[in-house]
Amino acid sequence: MSSNICHFINILSKDLSESQFIKSGSFEVRDPRDRLLNKSEICIKPKNTKEVSKILKLANKFLIPIIPLGGSTGLVGGQIAHEKNQVILSLEKLDEIKFFKKSNLLEVQSGAILSSIKNLAINNGRLFPLSLASEGSCQIGGNLATNAGGLNVIKYGNVRDLCLGLEAVLPNGKILSSMKSLKKNNMGFDLKNLLIGSEGTLGIITSAILKTFPIPKNPISIFFSVKDLEDVIFVFKKISDVFQDRILAFELIKNTGIDFIKETGFLINSPFTKNTDWTVLMEIEVNIGAISLNEILEQTLYDCILKNKIVEVFFANTLNQRNEFWKIRELIPAANRRKGSICSNDISVPLEKIPEFIIKLDRSISLFSKDILVNCFGHVGDGNLHYNIFPSSENSRPVLEKNRLQIFNIVNDLVNKYSGSISAEHGIGRLKVSELKKFEDPGKLYMMKLIKSVVDPKNLLNPGVIFNFKS
Ligand SMILES: Cc1cc2nc3c(=O)[nH]c(=O)nc-3n(C[C@H](O)[C@H](O)[C@H](O)COP(=O)(O)OP(=O)(O)OC[C@H]3O[C@@H](n4cnc5c(N)ncnc54)[C@H](O)[C@@H]3O)c2cc1C
Repeated sequence: MSSNICHFINILSKDLSESQFIKSGSFEVRDPRDRLLNKSEICIKPKNTKEVSKILKLANKFLIPIIPLGGSTGLVGGQIAHEKNQVILSLEKLDEIKFFKKSNLLEVQSGAILSSIKNLAINNGRLFPLSLASEGSCQIGGNLATNAGGLNVIKYGNVRDLCLGLEAVLPNGKILSSMKSLKKNNMGFDLKNLLIGSEGTLGIITSAILKTFPIPKNPISIFFSVKDLEDVIFVFKKISDVFQDRILAFELIKNTGIDFIKETGFLINSPFTKNTDWTVLMEIEVNIGAISLNEILEQTLYDCILKNKIVEVFFANTLNQRNEFWKIRELIPAANRRKGSICSNDISVPLEKIPEFIIKLDRSISLFSKDILVNCFGHVGDGNLHYNIFPSSENSRPVLEKNRLQIFNIVNDLVNKYSGSISAEHGIGRLKVSELKKFEDPGKLYMMKLIKSVVDPKNLLNPGVIFNFKS
């Protein structure tokens, strides 16, 4: 450890206990896709906001770069220290969660695990709707820092839309508290929304006030297959014309994804008997009090079948069947990991352009190499797709891996042509910095840099994330 960091730790030791300093080997920072390795030799675990403030104030004085760490499920490397002289700041000890019955609001500290927050809401008869496959490990601070999305964005929005109040510590140690539970608050700049999605580059999020919602009453899960993507959009439009914000999820699954799940040893029960390239798993809230909209839903789907827009459709009539359907969707990332992708893309394009976009992208990719398999899936109702690329056999992997950058460029260039986003929900982190520079509007980039340089003039908070200027 450098003498500068040793000195920094010595001074902090006067206020923090020995057990709050963890040496390398005894703490873990993971990249879920195993592309980056943590190089930091020390992790500090503050117990409250005041301690976070003390650490940042001192780090500012000693020019120590700080890397905020949540549950380490981030997919763009923002939580990974890329240099030895960086200190990991883990928020895991700030894990209080309170539910207020009168207001139905949650007050949470940033290290609280997402699934614990959801459980407390459920135990109080309410729903905190942020739903990610990583919810058993990710922390709400990490979710806010990345403005996480997930399954139910279509109805409830990103975590940004679920957050009313926020507390954070700025790089110089100043505490910024906007812990108000107001729907309307135009007292100056909306700094809460500046910090949400800033990936730990502007401040350390320490607490938040979150909204909860009524638990949907017996929502129904429906799995259907279609001939092509035009039909997916047709059915989505028909369903949303009638059910609007009663659609809880609308997930696209490519047949390749189902094949991957089976090939990698997972056991699933796919209900489909006819071969098609695409299926959709959707969940809809059909009950409003004693009124059921089930018949209207059945009629809408029946009309789609008559128009040849749906090939097969299955309703989950039991909880067991519902779980079987969702198991298929939830296993896709795990099966992809077992297969080992060449590159994974978290993109969004305007919904109505998705069919044309995918046809063009598939064509460009197949022109580039015949040895490629694509598994495209995701939250299609939000226009968000995970377009993941695999070698068709292990023999072709080395060549494709060599050409990874070119493959990424093909995807990103087309996303850009379609006015889409090269990062729909995972953020920029360390892995997409050059793409951000290439594809983002210069005016927006200018303003982002200006804000960063004023809030963190010494570039000490998460250096190398979003921005690539030197400390
Ligand atoms: C299987 C799997 C499925 C996933 N599914 C989804 C999905 O559907 N939708 C989605 O959006 N994401 C998804 N993710 C990505 C990931 O779970 C989210 O990005 C999540 O919000 C990260 O939270 P975390 O606590 O793990 O943060 P970390 O990975 O620890 O950190 C992520 C970033 O936030 C910063 N950070 C962490 N805590 C704080 C804090 N308190 N203050 C300031 N900065 C902080 C870190 O420095 C880093 O830049 C998935 C990941 C996995 C592994």
